[in-house]
Amino acid sequence: MDELIELRRSRRARKWTLSVPWGEPTLMTVPSWMRADDVAAIIDSHREWIALERAKQRPRLRLDPRHVSEAEARRAVRELVAMVIDDEASTLRVKPKRIQIRDQRSRWGSCSTTGTLSFNWRLVLAPFEVLDYVVVHELCHMREANHSGKFWKLVEARRPDWRAQRDWLDQHGPELMAFRPAL
Ligand SMILES: [Zn+2]
Repeated sequence: MDELIELRRSRRARKWTLSVPWGEPTLMTVPSWMRADDVAAIIDSHREWIALERAKQRPRLRLDPRHVSEAEARRAVRELVAMVIDDEASTLRVKPKRIQIRDQRSRWGSCSTTGTLSFNWRLVLAPFEVLDYVVVHELCHMREANHSGKFWKLVEARRPDWRAQRDWLDQHGPELMAFRPAL
């Protein structure tokens, strides 16, 4: 059966967009002036694409919301992050001022200009090497704020296999981001 599509008409939208987010209904935003016939035609011609996107979203990580509490996960992530920072910060000659564990919807970590490093609590659901890479990545940003060649050289020096962790996040990240604990 074709899945239902949530349609939003927007006065600000200049063109239509279609997204198929993990664990949420397909969402289509269209400019308010767009005719219903045209909207229907776009949906029809994208049914196959929507189904393909959904097929990619089969859970692979065996995450069980009943076994995870966000409070516990936050504590665990904070400890693991502190451990990696202890190991790496002096080698990289950086000194984070503050560590925040957050419920970001689209990021794994970030680094502010004031020296605060933020990490997504869902990293606790990923393999340790992935969390480790995200922490090292943000620590390297304290030296190089952008994603320049210099930045990646620094990451490469500390974690030569960083590409494997980035690929893991590309593949499984959306499933982790969609995860909502029951507790
Ligand atoms: Zn970065």
